[in-house]
Amino acid sequence: CPDFSGRVICVLIGKLKNKIWRRRMKIIMLGAPGAGKGTQAKKIAAQYSIPHISTGDIFRANIKNNTELGQKAKTYMDKGELVPDSLVVDLIMDRFKEADCANGYVLDGFPRTIPQAEALDNALKANGEKVDFAINVEVPDENIINRMSGRRACVGCGATYHIKYNPTKVEGVCDACGEKLILRDDDKPETVKNRLSVYHEQTQPLIDYYNKAGVLAEVDGTKDMEDVFKDIVNILGK
Ligand code: ADP
Ligand code: ADP
Ligand code: ZN
Repeated sequence: CPDFSGRVICVLIGKLKNKIWRRRMKIIMLGAPGAGKGTQAKKIAAQYSIPHISTGDIFRANIKNNTELGQKAKTYMDKGELVPDSLVVDLIMDRFKEADCANGYVLDGFPRTIPQAEALDNALKANGEKVDFAINVEVPDENIINRMSGRRACVGCGATYHIKYNPTKVEGVCDACGEKLILRDDDKPETVKNRLSVYHEQTQPLIDYYNKAGVLAEVDGTKDMEDVFKDIVNILGK
């Protein structure tokens, strides 16, 4: 009977739509420098099979390869200031065109200003899309200096560790690729203080922005890494 088969087709299409929708995860990580955005973003990327896009990592790769973009970005990064919006927005828009972004992505370190958030919204809107989740990893300023001074980054693959909370098997050597670990120049306490004030002034307003958009979720970033991740999975769904 056509009515019945029509209904069956409708249900099937609905299910398929749900499946595609669930897989299209566009996630933003918010939080102070050192809150654990990168740590959690890597876990999210692995769990949901979406790319982890870190603007900081992209800039650091450009600095390492001595590109024009890297040279421009370095002058701001060394001072703990933000790279100008125009440089960041073009870069991220190009990244979205890559095939691995088809099912969504987890953005770590972007957007960092209201104009960046608006540029992202406009680009998504043009395709009938939107940000699905903005996850704010909350860590008080008092904990941040400690987190940053203990952070170690691999010069080879960019993996991050912490001398106390996430140590490597062999001190100073990356577990993943065997290269040496460094303390990032901008993780030294003088620069971290400036980055924190830049964060409060320019990035923290995004919490309100995404709250108003109805996509904000907050997690307590002072918990153990694994517990923070469990809280995030509860928000995103299994
Ligand atoms: P953290 O992991 O500590 O939050 P990132 O690696 O994300 O730091 O960023 C390092 C630096 O790169 C920032 O201090 C800033 O200078 C620059 N940067 C990264 N992302 C952006 C962005 N979206 N807008 C402007 N500057 C950025
Ligand atoms: P962000 O990307 O927000 O700048 P990271 O993910 O790089 O932050 O984390 C900053 C430092 O703190 C790293 O050394 C990381 O290993 C460590 N870290 C991350 N999450 C936690 C946590 N929940 N508890 C303790 N240390 C953490
Ligand atoms: Zn490595």
